[in-house]
Amino acid sequence: MFIPPLPLPSNPNIELRFRAHTVEESLEFGDATAETEEEFTTRYLNTVQIGEVNDSAMWTVQDRRAALYWIWMNTRMKHGHSLSYTCGHCHQLHQHTFDMKDLGGELELLQVPPRIEVSIPVNGKPVEWILKPLDGRSMERLQAMYNRLPMKDSPAYRNELKNVRLVEIVLQTQLKDDPEDFEQAGEKRYSLIKTMEEYTEFAPLVASVRTMQESLRHGLPIVIQDGQPMLYAPPHVCPEKAKEGVRLTTRLYFPFRAIKYLPVSLAGLMANADS
Ligand SMILES: [Zn+2]
Repeated sequence: MFIPPLPLPSNPNIELRFRAHTVEESLEFGDATAETEEEFTTRYLNTVQIGEVNDSAMWTVQDRRAALYWIWMNTRMKHGHSLSYTCGHCHQLHQHTFDMKDLGGELELLQVPPRIEVSIPVNGKPVEWILKPLDGRSMERLQAMYNRLPMKDSPAYRNELKNVRLVEIVLQTQLKDDPEDFEQAGEKRYSLIKTMEEYTEFAPLVASVRTMQESLRHGLPIVIQDGQPMLYAPPHVCPEKAKEGVRLTTRLYFPFRAIKYLPVSLAGLMANADS
């Protein structure tokens, strides 16, 4: 199966070439779980590249989803997908069936470098920050942290969750004098950010990270919820309101997981072929 080359959405000068995975690889990836999906995504995207491997751990989370989507679209015969939801407009249950092919039209390539620079002080001293989208390494790290969160009803839960959210911000920053080592650099920025004044320094940093995410939109429209990347479905028009001549739409998102689109088992592969 020929898969057309895909320009890396965050850096379209890089062209990615993929091949379809083999049955042997399918068996090898068979033990992927939702808890390890980011790690598997890295391995999978590195395994199915043709030629020199461009390490997918360094790609943005959007690049990784776009690549998974691209491979999936070009190796599957049927592209239908269905979601059911309770409509916020008419409060009835709807079924939204769409062609995954339609999402391809929303694939955006970035025309500027995937980073922005801002100056935000720490304890009144100016600091130059580089803000960048989460990459594969960061996603693996976050997923591991979300997996280790205590039970929701435990007293420690809220604080631990706040800490993961803080790390999520830390992982979208970079400093010019960061140590080479990813872990060390992260620890250093984490310690520094914890010393920021909450309202006058940390809040503007968080706001700048949000602005960065918005201005560096690329790949497919996704949202990251509790460390899980979710893909937006095409807008669905409420059929009830349409009868009254009113056009109201809902934009749903759904987990776009590597493992969902990787054959979980050979039996799964066969079941998928029938669906
Ligand atoms: Zn409705």
